[in-house]
Amino acid sequence: MIGKVLGNRYEIIEKIGGGGMALVYKAKCRLLNRFVAVKILRSEFIEDEEFVKKFKRESQAAASLSHPNIVGIYDVGMEDDIYYIVMEYIKGQTLKELIKQKGALGVDFATNIAIQISSALEHAHRNHIVHRDIKSHNIMIKEDNSVKVTDFGIARAVSSSTITNTGNVIGSVHYFSPEQARGGYTDEKSDIYSLGIVMYEMLTGRLPFEGESPIAVALKHLQDEAIKPSAINPRIPKSLDDIILKCMDKDVNNRYSSMSEIISDLRQSFVMPNGDFVKKTRFNDESTRVIKPIKLDENIEDISFRSKAAAPPETRTDDAAVTELPEKPSKKRNTKMTVLAVLGGLILALAVGGIVLGLVSFFSVKEAVVPELVNLTEEQARHKLDELGLELEVTDRVTNSEVPEGLIIMQDPKPNQKNKVTNPVKVTISEGALKVKVPNLIGESYEKVDLILEKYGLEEGELEQETSDYPNGIVIRQSVEAGTEVDEGTKIDYVISMGPQRFLMPNYVGQNIDDVSMDLIAKDLIRGEVTYESSSVYEKNTVISQNITPGTEVNRKSVIDFVVSSGKDTSKKVPPVLSIPLPKDRDSMRVTVQKIQNSVIETVYEGTHSSADSPLEVPVSGQGKVTFEIYIDGVLNETVEHEFK
Ligand code: ATP
Ligand code: MG
Repeated sequence: MIGKVLGNRYEIIEKIGGGGMALVYKAKCRLLNRFVAVKILRSEFIEDEEFVKKFKRESQAAASLSHPNIVGIYDVGMEDDIYYIVMEYIKGQTLKELIKQKGALGVDFATNIAIQISSALEHAHRNHIVHRDIKSHNIMIKEDNSVKVTDFGIARAVSSSTITNTGNVIGSVHYFSPEQARGGYTDEKSDIYSLGIVMYEMLTGRLPFEGESPIAVALKHLQDEAIKPSAINPRIPKSLDDIILKCMDKDVNNRYSSMSEIISDLRQSFVMPNGDFVKKTRFNDESTRVIKPIKLDENIEDISFRSKAAAPPETRTDDAAVTELPEKPSKKRNTKMTVLAVLGGLILALAVGGIVLGLVSFFSVKEAVVPELVNLTEEQARHKLDELGLELEVTDRVTNSEVPEGLIIMQDPKPNQKNKVTNPVKVTISEGALKVKVPNLIGESYEKVDLILEKYGLEEGELEQETSDYPNGIVIRQSVEAGTEVDEGTKIDYVISMGPQRFLMPNYVGQNIDDVSMDLIAKDLIRGEVTYESSSVYEKNTVISQNITPGTEVNRKSVIDFVVSSGKDTSKKVPPVLSIPLPKDRDSMRVTVQKIQNSVIETVYEGTHSSADSPLEVPVSGQGKVTFEIYIDGVLNETVEHEFK
């Protein structure tokens, strides 16, 4: 890669680093003669068309962000199967490196860094971009201590399956929110959680949750309470403890609801480090929504008060006065009123259009002042012009998503200009927004929803989650039925499944405990006690038995204990022995073992047992590849493959 020139412009100079998704190189932009950082997508992701599409889209979205604390993205490109992002080259080190070097950072320094990260996130969230991979590796500290956050939104391109398949990506698991660990829906609140972890790490010098494996860490995010930061570093004041733990709340509803609230509390902590100002309960979203209509009502009242004299409520006071002018001779109004109206008209004309315009329109018979027609219907406009002796001509009808169907978008001449009565006033009328058909979302993964809606010219609305028989993450309802015609740009709300509330306990016997743990997280089950035993049958780290019998109906959050093999004990028990875990709570059951070798089936064991005999050990023999089928009360319970040496 070194020496290669991408896009006929970026000359790769040296490798700077690499993470789960990409490798990062320092490069020189030949066009602008400056250093840039080029992030090249790892080749294993290139095959995944969906991934590349998302990667491209997300990085382009991130490129639209412009903020002093966000690494600028200059270019996104593709060349001979190389997918790359060109960004601002940052001279400095990552926050991770800094913490590794110095341990816990000073309180003021860390607070300052936290505020800078928060402003970056605040800007992104305001632009509807969620970072999704906030961690100290993605935060660069420049030599002047200014902060630059990288990799905005790009993590979204990684589906949960990639996270489990690639060892590196899972490195982020230390910063994952519980909802991310579960592979569920993530939003701004997940960034808030991860920021909490980063603050924890900065101030204590360590991570709140650590474990042997990524899965163990993920489980801790879901189940464990973190040690209070000040219990690790006594210099941490109360307010920072409170801020960090509020960010890290497992329940999204108890976390801060916006980055600006965090910034304000962080600033306050400089002033009152030991103050008790961090609100425990979340400021309710509902109440902010209530405020808006109240404000609107006030405005409406205000307007109607001012325009009380004008008959149609949509007519503004100034228009009303202008239309009074030609009415004057015919109506049976008393002279006083007319004079007042004329004076009012003149004053307005002076204010709006200038003396000459007003006077000319008043005295000339052949000309009239054109009123404001925008936002009126064709009929209303015709009526209004009629009264002035003017004519209307509809020159165009166009689709427009902002002006409702049937209303005037543009007029020529413009309002308050004089116009000869023989010249029609030309208008363009809206046909409303372009209509599109709502696509079906039900059954799709939530990760695809935005792409599907975008394809149809629609927007993603609100998302809710509920338990259902569909797997986690699958759309189960949409606010507008598929096939309905709606305006382009309409927001479609949808509900995704969190998985079923009750389901049948899977059989984990014979599976690797790490895979099992991952599956438990996805199913919202809880890993209970794990005890290790040597086994003559099962490989190391393979489940020998589980305390809930497969096929039993269980609730989400059920706790399951496992016995796991600590390794194959080959020293004794020759010939090999089948160790058969028996279902629980049975006084009597018929156990049959059939051996299948070279397509010949043979019953090698038959006996009656109770659950207390579990695991039942049956010595077996054979040659080459042999399959054993274990039947309990005539039903196939397990199949074991064995290669005899
Ligand atoms: P992930 O893939 O989850 O983001 P990561 O953040 O460790 O993991 P990369 O984003 O690929 O991996 O970055 C790798 C390293 O490259 C970083 O740790 C950093 O040292 C360096 N780096 C990244 N972006 C820049 C940049 N804009 N300027 C200078 N160095 C950078
Ligand atoms: Mg990164």
